[in-house]
Formats: sequence, structure tokens, C-alpha cells
Amino acid sequence: MKYRNSCRETNWHVENPTSAIASRLEPHFNATRPVQTKNPYISPKQLDKRWQVINCEKARHELFDDKAQHDMYRYQKNIENYIGTVKLPVGLVGPLRVNGLHANNDFYLPLATTEAALVASYNRGAQLITESGGASAMLISEAVMRTPGFCFQSLAEAGQFVAWVSTQHDVFRDIANQTTNHGELQSVGVNMDANNVYLVFEFTTGDASGQNMVTIATNAVFNYILEHSPITPQYAYVEANLSGDKKATAQSLRNVRGKKVSVEVVVPKELVKKRLHTSVDAMVNYCRLSATGGVISGSIGVHGHYANGLAALYIACGQDAACVAESAVGITRLEHSANGDLYAAVTLPNLMVGTVGGGTGLPSQSACLDILGLNGAGNAKALAEVTAGLCLAGELSIIGALSAGHFSRAHHKLARHNKPS
Ligand code: NAP
Repeated sequence: MKYRNSCRETNWHVENPTSAIASRLEPHFNATRPVQTKNPYISPKQLDKRWQVINCEKARHELFDDKAQHDMYRYQKNIENYIGTVKLPVGLVGPLRVNGLHANNDFYLPLATTEAALVASYNRGAQLITESGGASAMLISEAVMRTPGFCFQSLAEAGQFVAWVSTQHDVFRDIANQTTNHGELQSVGVNMDANNVYLVFEFTTGDASGQNMVTIATNAVFNYILEHSPITPQYAYVEANLSGDKKATAQSLRNVRGKKVSVEVVVPKELVKKRLHTSVDAMVNYCRLSATGGVISGSIGVHGHYANGLAALYIACGQDAACVAESAVGITRLEHSANGDLYAAVTLPNLMVGTVGGGTGLPSQSACLDILGLNGAGNAKALAEVTAGLCLAGELSIIGALSAGHFSRAHHKLARHNKPS
């Protein structure tokens, strides 16, 4: 077989690769491609200018179609430099029966994805849960954090600052709560690292997922601190990365970021056999083996694939898709029930979901929340419980497929073969 040298294929000077790499990577100051207009807002004029810069009619036709033109002003609080919309296929999962504190219904869930087999797999898990009487679901706690950081000259100064902060909680609460009707500052924690102080502001955020809300509220308190603190920090920032925003962190596995939900179901052994074509033993054994695999890999929590269902649901329903980073953290447990059926439980401590604000009011996203029956105020807690139910469905289905030896078969069948029309 002839050896193909990738350097030769890109016409690099393989005789002197060091200088070739250096010259490719060094800064270049020749003329750039056309620069876009500085104005980030939405107007026919700006849209026209942007598409002139892009200069690709095929893309314009696809992204900036009649609907994207008609609806363009609805996107103005959600995007800068708008050029249109991307179409994603949406598949339906359900009915998923959820017997929750807040969600109590059979739900149809819209999932937006381009990954074949995903919807089919979650749907299979949802059917199984529903046939088993539904998933019990409990919203356990709620909090969204912002964590300003302050650096002082010495440990002594940091200590004096913390002492002052402890006298100001009521003032902080009043200032924060003046910025929002639905958000509420619940607690102020402190984390010291020598001369660095991190304040941990924890909020409830009503039916919004709350990232903007807590930033605006914390910023108001932060400005008050900078103005009134008897000790002036050398430098300070409104967020110092202790909040776990858009990151999987060990602290959020034990605590909460957004909404913490547990769901469980007992699947009769006959249904495991009939619907998943495997046994309770095989599924419990897989769960044990994969839990150790997760520990060896350093995973935060142990689970199969929460991110699949979360990303698809978040995108469909106008949630901040980047929050899948922290939301896809949790624990899946599969065990024998007392009478030999399958006990399955999922706990997700970081569900960042809301039914108002963010992208929830956009045309398609609002329609997807309508399909769920959870659009608008009063529905965020239920959405969190349903989301956890979806994750449980996904865990049951994937572990069932792995246990039955069908994991590869489903992907091959659904992703590589033409489906009948
Ligand atoms: P938001 O749309 O900024 O705020 C929610 C709005 O809805 C507020 O104006 C709130 O009013 C109002 N509202 C009406 N009824 C409500 C109810 N029942 N419950 C709660 N609020 C209600 O949304 P957000 O959830 O705070 O922020 C989400 C967005 O922030 C996402 O798009 C995300 O991408 C983005 N984000 C921001 C940051 C950041 O640091 N700024 C970081 C990550 C993500 P009141 O405030 O008067 O209650």
C-alpha cells in the first residue's frame, strides 16, 4: 500500500517543515474579506448588507426565506448580526407519562436533532415508562448562582471584607430584588482563598431559567459593594467562575444549579423482555460495569447519554443549548426491585430550564412548548420534571440496547439505510 504523506498533499515544504508551519501560522495583515456592517440590529437594510457581504445566493435562499423575513423582528432580543434561520428536523417522543409534583400528565415532547436513532430511542424509553405506569418525578431544589470575586492586598483585608459582607445581607437582598419582579435573592455565601473572596449569590428565578436575571441583579449588588465596602479590593469582577455557568462541575453534582430533579420508575421484568428484548439482570449488570467505567474515566456523575435528549429538547424549546454543559450531569441507577423487576432512577441537579424569557417566545420554540403544553408562566417546574423523565427514557433505552446487543444495529438501520416512505 502506498504511504500517503499528508504534508505533501497540502504542498508544505516537507524538507523544512518547521519554517513551513511557522509561516502558515504567523499573523497576516493583507486585506481581509469584506467587513460586515457595525450595526448588529435587525432591519431590511442591514440584512441586505450582510447578505451582500456573504455573497452566496444559495445560502440566502435557504436561510432567509419568506418566514425568516416575515418573523425577523421577533428575533431582535435573541441574536446579533441576524441573517436568517436554520431549519432542523423535529421528531416527536411520547406519550411520556410523568407523575410529578408539578408535571402530571402524558406528555408529547418535540426533539430537534440531526442524529438518527435518537428520537426512536427516546421514544422507545418513553413508551416503556408509560406502559409501566409512568415515572414518579420530584423537583427537589432550585437555585441559580452568580459569584462575584474580589482580590484584596492581604488575608487580613479579605477577612475584614467578609465581616462587613455578613452585616449587609438584607441590603443586598433589597437591592437585588428591586431589579426583578420574579427573581429573588435567597442566600449569600462566602468562599475565601487567602486574599481572594468569592461571594455566592443564590437566586430563585420564577419561570425563567434566569441567567440574565441573576446577572442583572448581582451586578446591582456588586456596584453597591464597590461603592460602600470599607475595604477597597485591588480588583473585582461580577462573575469569577464559581457559579458553574455552562460547565460540568463537581460542586453542582452535590448541590444544585437551576433545578434539581429525581425521577424513578419500576419496569416489570416482563416488559423489559417484551420491549427491550433483554433481562433485568443484564441491565443491572451493565449499569454496574458502566458505573465503574465512568469512575475510571473521571466522569462527574455516572450516566449514559443525558446530553442527547437535553440538547434536542433545549434546542426545540428555546432553552440555552450551551447549558447542556452543566445539565448533562447526574446519576443513573438501575437495580433489582424487591420482587425482581427493574428499578430505574435518574437524578439531574443542574437542569437550566424556563418557560418564559430567553428563546422561549420565538416562533418555533414557543410552538414546541405548546406541544408540551408547558408554554408560559407557571410551567417551569413541570418542564424540569418532564425533562428529567425524558432523560430516564433515554437511559432505559440505551442501556436496554447495550444489554441486548442491539446498540450498533439500531444506528446502522436508522442512519445508514433508506427508510420506507
Ligand atoms: P430573560 O428573558 O432575560 O428574563 C426573563 C424575563 O421574563 C424578565 O424580564 C422577567 O421579568 C420576565 N418574566 C415575566 N414573567 C415571569 C415569570 N413568571 N417568571 C420569571 N420571569 C418572568 O431570561 P433569563 O432566563 O433571565 O435569561 C435567559 C437568557 O440568558 C438565555 O437566553 C441565556 O442564553 C442568556 N444568558 C445570559 C447570561 C448572562 O450572564 N447575562 C449567561 C448565560 C446565558 P422580571 O425580571 O421583572 O421578573
